[in-house]
This record gives sequence, structure tokens and C-alpha cells, in this order.
Amino acid sequence: MVVSDAYDVIVVGAGVAGLACARRLVAAGRVPLLLERSDCVGGRVKTDVVDGFLLDHGFQVLPLAYPEARALLDYDRLDPGTFERGAIIRSHGRFRRLADPRQSPVRSLRALAGGVVGVRDGAAVLKLLRGSGDETTTAEALRRSGMSRATVERFFAPFLRGIFLEEHLTTSSRFLDFVLRSFSAGPAALPRNGMGSIATQLAESLDIRTGTAVATVGPHAVSLETGEQLRAGAVVVATAGIVDEPAHGWNGVTCVYYDAPEAPLPGPWLVVNGEGGPINNLCVPSEAAPGYAPAGRSLVSLSILGAGEPDLEAVGRQLRGWFGSGVTEWRHLRSYRIPRALPSYPVGGFGSQSIRLSDGLYACGDHREHPSLNGALASGRRAAEAVLSDSA
Ligand SMILES: Cc1cc2nc3c(=O)[nH]c(=O)nc-3n(C[C@H](O)[C@H](O)[C@H](O)COP(=O)(O)OP(=O)(O)OC[C@H]3O[C@@H](n4cnc5c(N)ncnc54)[C@H](O)[C@@H]3O)c2cc1C
Repeated sequence: MVVSDAYDVIVVGAGVAGLACARRLVAAGRVPLLLERSDCVGGRVKTDVVDGFLLDHGFQVLPLAYPEARALLDYDRLDPGTFERGAIIRSHGRFRRLADPRQSPVRSLRALAGGVVGVRDGAAVLKLLRGSGDETTTAEALRRSGMSRATVERFFAPFLRGIFLEEHLTTSSRFLDFVLRSFSAGPAALPRNGMGSIATQLAESLDIRTGTAVATVGPHAVSLETGEQLRAGAVVVATAGIVDEPAHGWNGVTCVYYDAPEAPLPGPWLVVNGEGGPINNLCVPSEAAPGYAPAGRSLVSLSILGAGEPDLEAVGRQLRGWFGSGVTEWRHLRSYRIPRALPSYPVGGFGSQSIRLSDGLYACGDHREHPSLNGALASGRRAAEAVLSDSA
């Protein structure tokens, strides 16, 4: 067995949690080494460039109000393009705009008058935005809010399914509250160069060994799959799968991308589907951040719950039903099936779990905090703070 020199801190995994941890350590004058199994940083936040299109590994957005992201990221350099507040709802064979009731009361009232959301529901939405009370499932929190079933089914259910990546809305209302708070405090955005640029910005000037898979970890040491052993003052495991797995499993999703000659619905809107069929939600990322498509083209992204093989025939039928026969000119670019997209977060699932596993061994990642970029960043920061405080 080869035993290499000792390092200050070793961080296993260069997803956003590991990167946030390393950044905090560097800011405190420490010299962490990151070990990453794949050939690039980012973990679940990566962007491929295909024929000039930016394809994120699954549709995801950065809500600009995330406190951890605001503290750590240089938004000016990410140059994010934002989505409209609210959404376009597909129901009863039509598309209707629903503006955020907090941000655009006038437009929102128009949507109410247009019949998307009943007047009673407007008050229920505002109540829900103030917090859902005792922890329960999201489905039950929506019921308790007094909102009509029609509004839940046409808007809230598909909108939240697209965020939680699960069908039955069994996700904890704590996470619901966090999501609604984040989305109402600021717009959702896409960085100019893709979601992956969040990770590449975090990785700047860090010491990272990619293509390096860790087999086992212990206090003050890691063993690589090559058999090499590295010693360190502290080891932070910033991924599921080595010392733990999410207690309640994973939610999966499939994201399908098309190259289209023009945006089927102009403007940076999230479209949620309230009338069934394979597509849960859809958007045109290049309407929010033009760099997502080459000049003169549009990128269409749609999400299907679950990570099974997507039925592209059924997807095509639904798209033609929505946008007409012009859809036949769209070119399928790529589908991403992501079975381990988000850790499940049921009632009582988890809050912040302990960072310290044993003397010199720490763990972080979204699965130990909550399933979002903010959760991953917070968890990485907390791990760094634990390392720093234990070695002060
Ligand atoms: C499709 C999709 C949509 C999402 N949408 C949103 C959204 O809209 N908004 C939001 O806030 N969040 C969203 N998320 C969640 C967000 O992306 C995650 O919460 C976050 O990226 C998790 O980061 P992490 O560092 O905890 O874990 P990971 O990203 O999983 O990082 C773990 C890293 O460890 C590495 N690794 C694993 N095993 C080893 C090993 N043995 N040795 C070395 N390295 C190893 C992995 O390769 C990986 O790079 C979405 C996620 C997905 C997949």
C-alpha cells in the first residue's frame, strides 16, 4: 500500500457541498485537497455543450434569493438571466399566465379573473406564502390552506412536483415553506454559461484531483480505489454513498431537450402542466439566458417525473397538441435520466444532521441538510466550520 504525505484537510466529492466546504476552509487560511471521482467538478450541477446548446444535467434553476448562494457566489460574473415570477399554466386546452400574487397584484388579479385561480384561492395562496404551520405533507398543507382542488391540481401540484420530483406531494411542508419563501423572495435564474458555471466558479483556484475515486474513509485517512492511502488532519465526506445514503431514498427525473427554430411560448416562463400526460413542466431556457442556444435557435427543456426510459412518441404527441405541427421540425438533442436527482424529504425526514461522524471525520451534502443548492452550500459551510472549530 502506498501512503502519501499528510494533507491538511481532504474533502471527498467536488459537488457544490464539497466546493463550498473547501472555499470556506481556504478563506480561513487552510489548504484543502478535493478528491473527485468524475472527470469534472459540479456533481449534480453540470452543463454539457451540444451543437452550441447548453444542456444542464436536468432542468434546474438558481433562485437568486438563496442566502447561501448570495454569500458565496459572484452573481455579476454568473450574469444570470431570470425567469418571470409566476408561471404559465396549461389546463383545459389553454395556456394562461399566473403572475406571482406578491409581486404583480394587478396581473395576478387578471389571472384570478381569467379563472385560473378562484378569488378564495388568492387568499389561500397568500396564507400559504406566510408559512404552512405544523409539519405535515405538502398535499395536506395545500388542503389545510383552504385552496380549491382545481387550483391545486392545475397549478400547485404540477409546479411542486417539478421541484420535489415526486408525484404524490408527500414531501415535508418544511421544505414546501422553504421553496415558497425562496421563490417569492426573488426570481429564479439561469447563469449565462449554464448551471455548471456555478460549480466552476466555486472551484476556482482550489486544489482538486478529478478522476480520483475514494473507496473508504476513516478518521484522518482515505483510501483510493487505486489502493493509495492519503492521510489528513481531517476528512470531510461531501457525498452520499460512502458513509451514508439518504435515509428515505432518492427522487428521480428525466429531462428532454429539443432544438427549435423559435420559442413555442415567447418569454422566460415556466410552464406547468395541469392536464395530465407525460410532461410535468416545460420552459425555454434560451428565453431566460440567451446563451443556452446558438443565435437564431431556441432550446426547449421539459421534465418528466421518474427516471425511466422516456416515451418520446407520447411526448411528441403532447407537444403537437400544445404547439401544433411545427413541433415536427424540432430536433431531439438529448435526454437525461437522473435516478438520484434529489434525496426524498418526507415528514420528519431530516433537518440538519450531525456534521461530525468521529474525531477527524465529517460529512456533508444536500442529503444531510435539505435537497437544494442552498441546502448543499449550507451543509458544506457547516462542515468547514466544524473542522475549523475542532482544530482551533
Ligand atoms: C435534475 C435536478 C434538478 C434540480 N433542481 C434544483 C433546483 O432547481 N434548485 C435547487 O436549489 N436545487 C436543485 N437540485 C438539487 C441540487 O442540484 C443538489 O441539491 C446539489 O447539487 C447537491 O450537491 P452535493 O454537493 O450535496 O451533492 P453532489 O452534487 O451529488 O456531489 C457529490 C460529488 O461527490 C462525487 N463522488 C461521489 N462518490 C465519490 C467517491 N467515491 N470518490 C470521490 N468523489 C465521489 C460525485 O461525483 C459528485 O461530484 C436539482 C438536482 C437535480 C439532479
